[in-house]
Amino acid sequence: MADRTVSAGSQRTTAPPTAIPHAELRERVCAVNRALVPAGLVVLAFGNASAVDREAGVVAIKPSGADYAGLEPADIVVISLVDGSRVDGQLRPSSDTPTHLGLYRAFPSIGGVIHTHSTQATAWAQAGRPIPCFGTTHADHFRGPVPVTRPLTEAELAGAYETNTGLAIVERFEADGLDPDEVPGCLAVGHGPFTWGPSVEAALENAIALEQVAAMAILTLAIDPAATPLWPALRDRHHRRKHGSTAYYGQVADKRERA
Ligand SMILES: [Zn+2]
Repeated sequence: MADRTVSAGSQRTTAPPTAIPHAELRERVCAVNRALVPAGLVVLAFGNASAVDREAGVVAIKPSGADYAGLEPADIVVISLVDGSRVDGQLRPSSDTPTHLGLYRAFPSIGGVIHTHSTQATAWAQAGRPIPCFGTTHADHFRGPVPVTRPLTEAELAGAYETNTGLAIVERFEADGLDPDEVPGCLAVGHGPFTWGPSVEAALENAIALEQVAAMAILTLAIDPAATPLWPALRDRHHRRKHGSTAYYGQVADKRERA
């Protein structure tokens, strides 16, 4: 084992055991990626989670095709937010990295992004249908329908596909006048969901909520194919309990963490 003891003047100090660059960011991203499996959001190696450190100008993301079970913080790849170049890490970053970068650049308030092929949300993406806001569970997390992108053109598919996926999400938000803080997710048509949040942990909560409300919406339409969305006053009442300056749901420390 390497000697971690170093001399510093007349004193001898011990280097911290986790002295890898961007250690805290990588640990959080590793933990959230690993949490996708017990949350029932991924099978095989599908999906990826990332977090941004805007002060440092870097994004930490899961390595491409890596197994979740053995994932360690040192495996997490650190890339430049500006040009996508690898800053640290030995492995190749997720192939979806350009989509994550596009979202961080377009939505300056977000701190984490998650992509999965979770079954119920992906079913809506495959149907090319936005998920209607049928109830307060949905409104607590998404203020209105979870939108879906338009199909990419052949030229977009043949070119920078993952970059164009991100651009299509941003295009949907601009076209519909959506606020990414109020609607922290989008379905990539024929593919699957992307969620985000002020932190990667919040993005995970939104990914779990999205899968739940996607399932509820399917059941709602099975019971009543003519079911109508929640009326706006109740939708907004619920959303504002948890978000924004008038939020009062949860505990103070909890809210500060999610703010
Ligand atoms: Zn995917």
